[in-house]
Amino acid sequence: MRMFPDTGMVEHIRENLELVEERLARALARGGRRREDVTVIAVTKTFPAEVTMAAYAAGLRVFGENYVQEFEQKAPLLQGLEGASYHLIGHLQSNKVNKAAPLFGCIQTVDSVKLARRLADTGRPLELMLEVKLSEEDSKHGCAPEELPALVEAVRTLSGVTLGGLMTMPPFFDDAERARPYFARLRELGARHGLRALSMGMSGDFEVAVEEGATHIRLGTVLFGHRGARR
Ligand SMILES: *Cc1c(COP(=O)(O)O)cnc(C)c1O
Repeated sequence: MRMFPDTGMVEHIRENLELVEERLARALARGGRRREDVTVIAVTKTFPAEVTMAAYAAGLRVFGENYVQEFEQKAPLLQGLEGASYHLIGHLQSNKVNKAAPLFGCIQTVDSVKLARRLADTGRPLELMLEVKLSEEDSKHGCAPEELPALVEAVRTLSGVTLGGLMTMPPFFDDAERARPYFARLRELGARHGLRALSMGMSGDFEVAVEEGATHIRLGTVLFGHRGARR
């Protein structure tokens, strides 16, 4: 059975998206950048498939999910959303690679050669982005900036997969300005390796990220409201 999105929900998301677009337009103007250079990734983690369908109806096409098992449950309910694509933005354990590969078009959280090889070995035409850890927090995944050159080289030699760009998640700050140096650092690293795509910026700091060159912003709360307990 195909579920149809609730019109109230679609309207609500559409309004939130309009506000996001206004804020995004101002940030793009400040950074001297164009709208087509930035992809909004709608982060639907913890929300049911109806929310993804409503977001699609509101015009969103790229979706971010954090948990392979959660998305495995939702994916069958999302058949027929033409042109929709799904990015894994949460950490991927190597024992979930075979499950993840058919579900996602892009894996944004590749942080080791081993993981990249395993993804390539699935034979799926995946886009890989490399997650870089730019802060000292132990809780965050990602490769160290010093490890990046070797990782970039290794991924470029893999066949079947393509190297999309870099992704990062700065520590949480109440003041988004404090995330700016992290975004600038990711941009420098991308430039050094000829990687243009930069996935950085979330609900609390996407404008700063866009000013610093983000090409993919990952937005959950500003589009869908608070997620409740599970972060
Ligand atoms: C949850 C999550 C987001 C979205 O966060 P919001 O603050 O709700 O916009 C973005 N990126 C990653 C990696 C996430 O885990």
